[in-house]
Amino acid sequence: MNTLLDPQRTIAELKELRNFTADENGAQRVAFTPIWVATRAWLRKKLETLPVETHVDAAGNLWTTLRGESDRALLIGGHMDSVPNGGWLDGSLNVLAGVEILRRINAQYQGRPPITVRLVDWADEEGARFGKSLFGSSACSGTLNMDEARSLNDKAGIRLPDALRQVGVEFERVKDCGGELKNAAAYLELHIEQGPVLLDLNLPLGAVLGTFGVERHALTFHGQAAHSGSTPMNRRRDAFLAAAKMSPEIYRIGERHGGVCTIGSCTTKPGIVTSVVEECRITLDQRHLDAAALARMLEDARVASQAFAKEGNVTVSWDRLWQIEPVLFDPDLIGLCEDAIGEICGQRYRLPSGPLHDAAEVARAGVPTVMMFVQSLHGISHNKIEDTKEEHLELCVKAFDRLAEKTMKWIGAG
Ligand SMILES: [Zn+2]
Repeated sequence: MNTLLDPQRTIAELKELRNFTADENGAQRVAFTPIWVATRAWLRKKLETLPVETHVDAAGNLWTTLRGESDRALLIGGHMDSVPNGGWLDGSLNVLAGVEILRRINAQYQGRPPITVRLVDWADEEGARFGKSLFGSSACSGTLNMDEARSLNDKAGIRLPDALRQVGVEFERVKDCGGELKNAAAYLELHIEQGPVLLDLNLPLGAVLGTFGVERHALTFHGQAAHSGSTPMNRRRDAFLAAAKMSPEIYRIGERHGGVCTIGSCTTKPGIVTSVVEECRITLDQRHLDAAALARMLEDARVASQAFAKEGNVTVSWDRLWQIEPVLFDPDLIGLCEDAIGEICGQRYRLPSGPLHDAAEVARAGVPTVMMFVQSLHGISHNKIEDTKEEHLELCVKAFDRLAEKTMKWIGAG
């Protein structure tokens, strides 16, 4: 089968894509923009030589279907959209590796594989313009919150439903695309890791166990504004002092439970150089693959915030900004993914995903799912310096193709 698969072609196509969708600041394939539309047209042209059927669903996701003997379908997914000033591999590697695998399967089975194989390019994975990521896949899985999405605006004040109409998508009907998952028997997604774990271990590839659950909160500490010259240190009710103590504490909490915690924002009122801080608002983002451990991290942070508030004679209130449960991938498929990686690279490794991916939405819809990660150089993405060694790109296409073949057999046997 290896002679039918050409990973070098995938690398060449990724470069071709970069050439016409990136500028000196990086990739500019933001969803629903003219560059994104041009990207899709380019992708469809690549697929023209195959005996496939291609259509856009009610949420703007692009589906390409190679019909097989059975209607049961292997799904391979990714996203052609990028953040502004993004990298050349995030999302597009997944799709273009999928194109190469479709070519291999088509050639190997003379256009009629034992099961149906479908490639999906999800619409607006990044949520760069409206702040809502996983748009197309969450519409498909049915988890998209319509009331919330309906009221989203971009920076220019354009509403999401209006932006969608521009590209031919009727907002109120987006969830109709859920029918696309009807015969889905498995979903596979390749992705760059976007972090430093594989890099630090010097491993090219890893099988992904699932995506972290997230608890996202705003904590507001309330103290008292007072003159910075006339107020003795022991008389202050300093909201910033209490909030600041949370910073080292979240490192201890993350370490204790094996998760990650981030204070990403801090704002103070009145926010002037001559006043003790009356009100300090920080955001806390906590993530873990295990739901119980995530709940304990959240509880520890609550207890600590109350203790620090008490120490400083201030109060604290919590508001939940967002929350999602951990999503665990399918144990059988994780095993097949590890086998594929072991056969191509000699070493097996499994790791969780910190970022969310479309795969999490498909898994939430009940489709057996797994992801494969390939090492990211610098451990960085969403940045023009995002990169992966070409030898690793080649390995990931080979291993992902191997996983696709194993999964087809697994579906056939199921
Ligand atoms: Zn991505």
